[in-house]
Amino acid sequence: MQRGDARYEARAIESKWQDIWSRERTWEVANDGGGAEESSYVLEMLPYPSGEPHMGHLKTYSIGDALAHFRRRAGVRVLHPMGYDAFGLPAENHAIRTGRHPRASTEASIEQFREEFRSWGISIDWSREFATHEPSYYRWTQWIFLRLFERGLAYRKEAAVKWCPKDETVLANEQAKDGVCERCGTPVEARQLEQWFFKITDYADALLDDLETVDWPGHVRTMQRNWIGRSEGAEVVFRCEELGVDYPVFTTRPDTLFGATFFVLAPEHPDVLRLNDSPSVRDYVNRALAASAEDRGLEQREKTGVALGRTVTNPVNGEEIPMFVADYVLMEYGTGAIMAVPAHDQRDFDFARRFDLPIRRVVEPADGEATGEAAIDRAFVEHSTGERLVNSGRFDGMPAPEAIPAVTAWLSEQGRGRAAVSYRLRDWLLSRQRYWGCPIPIVHCERCGEVAVPDDQLPVELPEVDDYAPRGRSPLAAAEDWVRVNCPSCGGAARRETDTMDTFVDSSWYFLRYCDARNDEAPWGRAAVDRWMPVDQYIGGVEHAILHLMYARFFCKALSDLDLLDVREPFARLFTQGMITRGGAKMSKSRGNVISPRDYVERFGADTARCYILFMGPADQDADWSDEGVGGVHRFLARLHRLAVEVADRTPAAASDEPPGEAAPVLRKAHWAIDKVTFDIGERFSFNTALAAIMELVNDCYREKESLLASGGGAAQLRFAVVTAGSLVFPFAPHLGAEVYELLTGARVWEQGWPEADPELLAAGTFELIVQVNGKLRDRVEAPSNASEAEQERLARASERVDAHLDGGEIVKTVVVPGRLVNFVVRGQPR
Ligand SMILES: [Zn+2]
Ligand SMILES: [Zn+2]
Repeated sequence: MQRGDARYEARAIESKWQDIWSRERTWEVANDGGGAEESSYVLEMLPYPSGEPHMGHLKTYSIGDALAHFRRRAGVRVLHPMGYDAFGLPAENHAIRTGRHPRASTEASIEQFREEFRSWGISIDWSREFATHEPSYYRWTQWIFLRLFERGLAYRKEAAVKWCPKDETVLANEQAKDGVCERCGTPVEARQLEQWFFKITDYADALLDDLETVDWPGHVRTMQRNWIGRSEGAEVVFRCEELGVDYPVFTTRPDTLFGATFFVLAPEHPDVLRLNDSPSVRDYVNRALAASAEDRGLEQREKTGVALGRTVTNPVNGEEIPMFVADYVLMEYGTGAIMAVPAHDQRDFDFARRFDLPIRRVVEPADGEATGEAAIDRAFVEHSTGERLVNSGRFDGMPAPEAIPAVTAWLSEQGRGRAAVSYRLRDWLLSRQRYWGCPIPIVHCERCGEVAVPDDQLPVELPEVDDYAPRGRSPLAAAEDWVRVNCPSCGGAARRETDTMDTFVDSSWYFLRYCDARNDEAPWGRAAVDRWMPVDQYIGGVEHAILHLMYARFFCKALSDLDLLDVREPFARLFTQGMITRGGAKMSKSRGNVISPRDYVERFGADTARCYILFMGPADQDADWSDEGVGGVHRFLARLHRLAVEVADRTPAAASDEPPGEAAPVLRKAHWAIDKVTFDIGERFSFNTALAAIMELVNDCYREKESLLASGGGAAQLRFAVVTAGSLVFPFAPHLGAEVYELLTGARVWEQGWPEADPELLAAGTFELIVQVNGKLRDRVEAPSNASEAEQERLARASERVDAHLDGGEIVKTVVVPGRLVNFVVRGQPR
C-alpha cells in the first residue's frame, strides 16, 4: 500500500486528487441513469465573472459541494453543474475605458474562475459548462423571448424610465435607490422611451400562492410577498367631464369615499401633460421623476404639487373636486392616480394643509370625539368595528368594516366601480440601451410593425462595434449594416431592434440549460428537464432574494404554460448564506479589507479554506474572517493527516473491517460522529457543528492512540475511527478525505456509501450526568446517552453523595435536562 509522507503537504495532495477527478471525469453524470434511481439537482447561483472569485463564492460552493458529495454517497445521482453569467455592465464599462472588447475581458475572467474552482476541488460536471454570452446559449434566450412575445408576455410600450446620464442607460428602480445610480452615484433623471417589458404581473397571484409550495427561508418568502404587494379594495371611477375621460383609482378604503376633497395624479401618469402642459407642470414633472420612489413615498417628506386647473366628479356625491399632480403619488402603485381623503390619510392631510384644501371627516372615532374640521390635527386612520361613517349620505352610521363592501357594491350597481385587487409588482422592464447583452430578436417594419426574427435565423448575433459607450441610444444602433435588414414578413426595408436584454433574463433559465447543455436542436429536451427539475437545493446570497428568484419563478411558470416544462417552481429548496466580513465590516476595496481565496488556497490548501469557511459559524449567518481561525482548522487537518499516516504504518491493513471484541470508547465515538455529521449535513445544514464533531473524534483518537495500538483489537478499532474521520471529512475537505481513506483502505472514498452508525454502539455511548441539589453541583455520574428522563433521575437519586446532601430534606421538585443534568429542589434542611 502507498504510504504517505507524515508531513501534510496540502498542495501536493490536492493536485494529486484533482488530476484524478479531471482525468477520470469523476463528477460527470449522464441524464439517463436508468429507471427508479433517485436523483438530486444541487445548484449554487451562477457566478458573475468579473476579476477573480471572492470569499462569497468560496462559501457558496463549499456549501453546495458538501451537499453534492453527501448526496452522492447516499446513493443519489447528483447533477452539480457550473456556468457563468457573462453579460453585464462591469465588462462593458471596462471596455469603454480600455477599448478592449468586453468578450475578451469576460473570457479572461471566466478562465480565472474556472482555474480557481478547479483548484478548490469543487465536484463540478464540467461537461455541462457554458457562459451566457456564448451564441450557442443566447440563441435560446432569444428563442424563449420569442415564445413569450408570441404569447403577449413580451411587449413594448412608452414608459417613463429612470436614466443614469453618466452610464447612459436605463436603470431598474432597485438600481436607482435614493435617487442616484447604484453603480456610479450620479443623480438619476427621467426619460420617456419605448421599452420592452415582460408581463410578469399576469403571474402576480401565482407567484404569491406558490410561495406556499416551496421550502424556502421565511424571510425570503416574506420579501417576495412584500414585493408582489397584493392588496384588496375597490376600483372607483372618477370622471373628468370637461375632457370626457374616466380616471379609475384603486383604494383599500372605499368607506372614505365621501371624504375625497381632491384628486392627485403621479408625475409619470401619461395624462398629466394632456390635462395641463404649462411650463410649471412640465417643470414639476421633470424634477419629480428624478427623485427616488422611496423618498417620494416617505410620509414625513414635505408635500409638493401643482394644480392642473381641472376637476373630476366624485361618483358617490357628484362633487367636483380639483386635480393636482404631486410626487407623493407613485405610478408604481395602483393606477398612478388617487382620490385624496385628507381626514383619513396622513399624506393627503399634509398636502391639504399645504394647499389649503378642505378636510372632511367621514369616519367617526368610537369614543365620539368632536368631528369638526377645526378639531382635526392629524389624519384619523382607524377603521375597526367601533368606527362609524358620518357625512356619508345613505351610509351614515354604518360601522367602517361593513361600509367597505357596502360602498363597493353600490359603486358596482352604479357602474362606477368594482371590487379590485392591486399589486405593487410592476411589469419587468427588460430593455437596456447597452452593448454587452443579448440582442432582442425583433425587427421593426413600417408596414408590419414589430416582427419576430424567424427561429431558423437565431441567434441574432451581437454586431462588432468600435465604440461601446452608449450615446443616449444603444451602441448597437451604430452598426448600420447590422441594423438594416429586410422585414422577415413583407421583405421590405426594416430595422433591427437595437436594445439588448437585462442580464436577469439570461439568469432566469440557465438552470434548465444545464439539464441538456449540449442540445443544438432545442433549449432543452423534455426528458432531460423532467429528469432533473426542479432544482432540489438552490444556494446563494440573500441579496438575490427578490429579483433573480422572482424572475426565474416567472419564467418557470410562463414556460410551463407554454407546455415546455412540467414544473411550476424552479427551486424546491433554498438556502441563503450569510456574508463574510473582515474586521466587522463588509469586504470592499475602499475599506482595504478584501482578502482573496487564492492567497489562502496557495498558502494552506483548498481543504483548509473550505473547512474554515464552513467552520466560522452557522452558514446562514454573517461571520467575521480570522486568520487565527484558519490556522486552527489547518492544524486540525494536518493532525488528521499525521494520524492517518501513523496508523497506516503501525496497524495491519486487514484490520480496516469492522473490528471484533469489546467496543473501545473511540469506536463508540466514531459511531456518534457518523450519526451527528449525517444529521447535521442532511437535516440541518449545520456544517460547523458537523466539523466540530469530526474534530472531537480526531482528538479522541489521539488521546487513546497509544493504549489502543498496544492491543490487536484496539488497533483495529482505532483504524476504523480514523477511516471514519476521513470518510466524514470528505464532503468538506475532499482531497484530504480521499487521501486519508486511501492511506488506510486503498479504496476511493467517493465510491463508498456514506457510513451508517451502528445503533447498538450509539446506545452504548455514555455521558457525564451532572447532579445538583438546589442548583449546587453535588456529583457527576456516568449515564447512557439514550437514557430516558426517568432513568437519569434514577441514576442521580442512586448517587451516595447526593443522598448525603438530601439527608432530612424533602424533594419537592426534580428538574431533568435530558443529556445534561438532574437538579433536586429540596425543602427542609439539606446539608
Ligand atoms: Zn450611473
Ligand atoms: Zn414588413
